Amino acid sequence: MTASSKRRVYFDHSATSQVLPEVLEAMLPFFRERFGNASSIHSYGREAKASMELARKHVAALINADPRDIVFTSGGTESDNLALKGVAMYKGRTEGHIITSVIEHPAILESCEYLERVGFDITKLPVTREGLVDAAELERTIRGDTVLISIMAANNEIGTIQPIKEIGRIAQSKGIPFHTDAVQAAGKMPIDVKKDGMDLLSLSSHKLHGPKGVGALYVKKGIKIEPMMHGGGHEHGLRSSTENVPGIIGLGKAAELAKRDFEPVTDRMRSLRDKIIDRIPQLVERSYLNGHRTNRLVNNAHFRFDFIEGEALILQLDFKGIAASTGSACSTGSLEPSHVLLALGLTHEQAHGSLRLTLGRENTYEDVDYLLEALPGVVSKLREISPFNEERPMGASEGGSCVH
Ligand SMILES: *Cc1c(COP(=O)(O)O)cnc(C)c1O
Repeated sequence: MTASSKRRVYFDHSATSQVLPEVLEAMLPFFRERFGNASSIHSYGREAKASMELARKHVAALINADPRDIVFTSGGTESDNLALKGVAMYKGRTEGHIITSVIEHPAILESCEYLERVGFDITKLPVTREGLVDAAELERTIRGDTVLISIMAANNEIGTIQPIKEIGRIAQSKGIPFHTDAVQAAGKMPIDVKKDGMDLLSLSSHKLHGPKGVGALYVKKGIKIEPMMHGGGHEHGLRSSTENVPGIIGLGKAAELAKRDFEPVTDRMRSLRDKIIDRIPQLVERSYLNGHRTNRLVNNAHFRFDFIEGEALILQLDFKGIAASTGSACSTGSLEPSHVLLALGLTHEQAHGSLRLTLGRENTYEDVDYLLEALPGVVSKLREISPFNEERPMGASEGGSCVH
């Protein structure tokens, strides 16, 4: 069977999303005749610069920021690194206290680990069973030497939305810079950096139906950060290197479309998501929703299934043309399940039996029906051959359960 004769459905939009045709169209001239360097003063350069500044306006509008406060980067990872290291290590500082959570993206957690090695103190707040950070606990953790709070707007695995307004209010009242990783949240929930009290915010284009390798960091006027890239002084000196003009144009268009179509797109995602969340427990015995029932991204459904190994489930679904992802990261050489699922209090075995389905704007009701038709059969087939089947109580063994 060839791939083209098979139905293919993509439910892995939190990993990456398809570049929209309008986005690609907007980018193409910047690979061709409009190839100028945005720093050049001739007409080629001025054209590139003007288009880039229009893109900056669109990105700013998506989060209600001032366009002058948007710094283009190479993606969400760089934005997170620049926010954390840039604020913490301003003017060579090597000590101070940073508050984050245990379920952040590795771009945050690994940056924090680096900062810890340099000399900073890091507090990683725990989360509830649904993945929520407790804002009151965060407030109690603030110290005299706290230099930054970084809490993600919404989690990339389980979709839980954090109480960012409340955290923003607390941070503002204490005069501590507040960064949020909004890579998954942007375009999926309303974000207003002014109302929500955010000082820094990370975005990534490819999670928003834009191209890969481009992102943005919002840095509110007056927030002091140290650049990580030293060079020609692009992006107000905060991010040297000739701008990725085609990528930035793509991000700008993706942001423009996300804002323009916000209501119909998110309404539809929510209704598709709710269908998945309502139907799976009816169709599949011993299936459980991970994350928060209502405080969750409109495009995220995350389940765990008893007696199922996540990677096997992904491969069987892939065989039916359905692209999804495991909740566990049983990636190259690692048997460690996802740090996010463990932080919820799941056992290794429970974490390994997880499935993440994340929707994008092209998904339809037919896609969801196709999934709901295929999933129960796949799960029961896997359970028949499962090494974890009924004889063994769940949670009895810890670790090492990533059986292929
Ligand atoms: C994908 C992702 C990132 C990294 O973005 P890249 O553009 O791939 O570097 C950071 N944070 C979150 C929450 C993400 O989902």
